[in-house]
Amino acid sequence: MMAISAEFFVKILDKYPNIKLLKKIHSRLIIHQNLASASHVVLKLMKAYSECGQIKTTHQLFDEMPQKDVIFFNVLIRSYVNNKLYNNALFVYKSMFDFDVTPDHFTLPQVLKACSASANLPVGLQTHVGVFKKGLDSNVFVGNGLITMYGKCGWLDYSQKVFDEMGCRDVVSWNSLVAAYAQNGFFDDALDVCRVMMEEGCGLRPNAGTMASLSPAVTSSTFVENVVLMKEMFVKYTRESLVSWNVMIAVYVSNSMPKDAVNLYLEMESYGVESDSITVASVLPACGDLSALSLGRKIHEYVKRKRLVPNLMVENALIDMYAKCGSLDDARKVFDVMITRDVVTWTSMVSAYGMAGDGQSAVSMFLDMQDSGVTPDSISFVPVLSACSHAGLLDQGKQFFKIMTDEYRMVPRLEHLACLVDLLGRSGRINEAYEFIRNMEVKPNDRIWGALLSACKVHSNMDIGLVAADHLFQLVPEQAGYYVLLSNIYAKAGRWKDVATIRSLMRDKGVKKEPGVSNVELHNQVHTFLAGDQSHPQSKEIYKELDVLVGKMKEIGYVPKTDSALHDIEEEDKGNHLAVHSEKLAIVFVIINTERFTPIRITKNLRVCEDCHIAVKFISKIVKRKIIVRDANRFHHFKDGVCSCGDYW
Ligand code: ZN
Ligand code: ZN
Repeated sequence: MMAISAEFFVKILDKYPNIKLLKKIHSRLIIHQNLASASHVVLKLMKAYSECGQIKTTHQLFDEMPQKDVIFFNVLIRSYVNNKLYNNALFVYKSMFDFDVTPDHFTLPQVLKACSASANLPVGLQTHVGVFKKGLDSNVFVGNGLITMYGKCGWLDYSQKVFDEMGCRDVVSWNSLVAAYAQNGFFDDALDVCRVMMEEGCGLRPNAGTMASLSPAVTSSTFVENVVLMKEMFVKYTRESLVSWNVMIAVYVSNSMPKDAVNLYLEMESYGVESDSITVASVLPACGDLSALSLGRKIHEYVKRKRLVPNLMVENALIDMYAKCGSLDDARKVFDVMITRDVVTWTSMVSAYGMAGDGQSAVSMFLDMQDSGVTPDSISFVPVLSACSHAGLLDQGKQFFKIMTDEYRMVPRLEHLACLVDLLGRSGRINEAYEFIRNMEVKPNDRIWGALLSACKVHSNMDIGLVAADHLFQLVPEQAGYYVLLSNIYAKAGRWKDVATIRSLMRDKGVKKEPGVSNVELHNQVHTFLAGDQSHPQSKEIYKELDVLVGKMKEIGYVPKTDSALHDIEEEDKGNHLAVHSEKLAIVFVIINTERFTPIRITKNLRVCEDCHIAVKFISKIVKRKIIVRDANRFHHFKDGVCSCGDYW
């Protein structure tokens, strides 16, 4: 029989890291060939065992070698790093010195990797000293390792210093610095590094790794210019990789640019890049923000087709999307078939019922969550408290607040406190709400005073309303909404002089009202309308149809409500078309472009004003369509002349 060479086994080991085969080969090597002690065979065996996760055997093989040079140590250290056993890797590194073996430029990057992953700064610093001693500071792999290590340990100045002093850099060096800033939450600095790389990177270009390095920080918001810069980088250099698309979409979503996120997603589809569960979970919140229900549904179909579920992250995103689009049934369907549910899942459902105005169901959802064994967290109390407040469930809301503080021993945060003030205020307990604020252990913020002021408007409590307004003008003098509320309080009391004072106060302080914007989805495309918008291609048609509609509305009793108080946020001039509120334009746009009876879904950034609310009720009756408007506060489901909010929003 022809003797099988060691090389033959080495080749097989390279190809099949499969534990069964590996053991067979190993035993044959020992029994028949006695090749098992040849050092290059042992190294292969060590690597193969490590790849199969059998790190103990790797270490045994290492121990059995009588003569160990640096390569053996390198393989063992790398094996531990690859198996995420960083402390073991560092232990082997330290033992090198007992064996009188000197680490080389392959050892140190692995050691630095272990230090980074375990955030072990002391060993990292020692290693850096060793780098200098051995004159390895010009080695690019070592330099990259140091940048990453300091970044992971939060020593950003050192990352930057190592980077600056590197004689030679590759893309990984740049990406390591980007990652160092991004991981520590300095997104804008990370982007600055990208900018410099593009401008003076000596021909080096950002790649998918750069985008991936940026990703840990995308949750923090950034300047618009930086988003533009990222887009530029993405289009120019990194569009080939799925990671880049995912990061770019996530950046748009976390910077409140849902329309760009959705458009990029559509572009991605046409570009032929297949989305994965991360893409889907990133873009679904944008669909929710835009009420882009049909796109959301399409993505849901895709998820089913590609079998991306069960996946908690995706399923939670689907529930959230359906809830924000006002499609409670669909949210519930996703919820019902889920195999595992976490506190996010339950909280989304509670909030879905709450936003739809179904306080009772929100409450029973919350109770079901407790029964199912999922422990509520402090975030999960916010939607249940707010649901109680919107549905006027005073006692139950108070009960939940008590459970939160007494049973779960959670310290109520400002959001919870604002919910409770809202709960009391809406129920007409203005004095109790005011007392509650005065006894708070934390300094009340503008949301809390704002909730009180709203309640004062509804229940016409001038005295406490003025106190709340005083606090608000100090806390947030630039916010138009509160001036409007206060002027409404005055108007209700017939104090027109004071209304005028508020107006001039706003003028003097230069308070600008946020422009009203409505979004609507049609054939998977989101259309945006501003107040008095004439930029839409169908603008002429829209205004013509609106005129016809207003005529019909007046026939059945519509009187435009142009009260002399400031409107909630926007002002509309009924005399001409210049300032027609955006939701009216969006609704008419859908009426023109869809089949009869198709429901209409609009998202608006501000509160719906009283006139639009009345108008939409009439429109829903005339065109016989369901109209669902999500404004800054809640959902309005208009049907046959009635709104689900009971005219209280
Ligand atoms: Zn309006
Ligand atoms: Zn309503």
